[in-house]
Amino acid sequence: MPKRIGIFGGTFDPVHIGHLRSALEVAELMALDELRLIPSARPPHREAPQVAALDRLAMVELAVAGLAPLCVDDRELKRDKPSYSIDTLESLRAELAGDDQLFLILGWDAFCGLPSWHRWDELLQHCHILVLQRPDADSEAPETLRNLLAARSISDPLTLKGPGGQISFIWQTPLAVSATQIRTLLASGKSVRFLVPDAVLTYIHAHGLYRASN
Ligand code: ATP
Repeated sequence: MPKRIGIFGGTFDPVHIGHLRSALEVAELMALDELRLIPSARPPHREAPQVAALDRLAMVELAVAGLAPLCVDDRELKRDKPSYSIDTLESLRAELAGDDQLFLILGWDAFCGLPSWHRWDELLQHCHILVLQRPDADSEAPETLRNLLAARSISDPLTLKGPGGQISFIWQTPLAVSATQIRTLLASGKSVRFLVPDAVLTYIHAHGLYRASN
C-alpha cells in the first residue's frame, strides 16, 4: 500500500495549538500515515526566528510526542542553506517509494505567494498541494496561479490520486493564535498557558526563551 505523508513547514517560533489542531484535523481528514512538521532553519521569506533552531525543534518534538500520526522531520535544520521547499521535497522523494503520496500543506496566503518561491513550478512534480482555506476568506488567487488552478485543482481532497501533481482545498476555521502573539505575551511577562502544550510551556520557562531580554 502506498504511504500517505503530509508535510507542514513553518518556523514554529514557538509551535502552538493553532498549528497542532490544524495538523491533526488534516491528518484525520486525509487519513495520513504521517504528518511531518518540518521546522525551517533559515526561512527564505521572512526574518530570522527569535530562538535557536534546536530549541524550536525540541519544542515541536515535545508537542507531538505520543500524537501519532503527527511527527517531526528535522531535515531542514541539518542543511546549511536556506530552507527551500523544493529541496525538501526532492530529498523526501529520494527516501520514499515511487507511489507514496506526498501532500504539501499550505495556508491560503502561502499558496498565493507561491510564484515567488524557488523553482515553484516544479513542486507539483513531487507532491500534491493541500491549501488550507478559511471559510471566511474571499480573496482571489493571483493571475499567475489561475491557470495552474484551472488545470490542476480538484474539489474533493479525498479524491487526489497518485504520488502528486494536483491541488485541493481543505476548509478549516483556524484557532486565533499566532506565534507572534505568543512571543509578545511572553516578552511582557504574561501567561501563554493553553496557547501552547504544557510540555512546550515548561520548556520555554526552563530555557528562559522569549523574555524581553532575549
Ligand atoms: P508568526 O506569528 O511568527 O508568523 P505563525 O504562528 O504564523 O508564526 P508559522 O511557524 O509561521 O506560525 O506557521 C507555520 C504554518 O502554520 C503556516 O503554514 C501557517 O499558515 C500555519 N499557521 C499559523 N498559525 C496557525 C493557526 N492558528 N491555525 C492554523 N495554522 C496556522
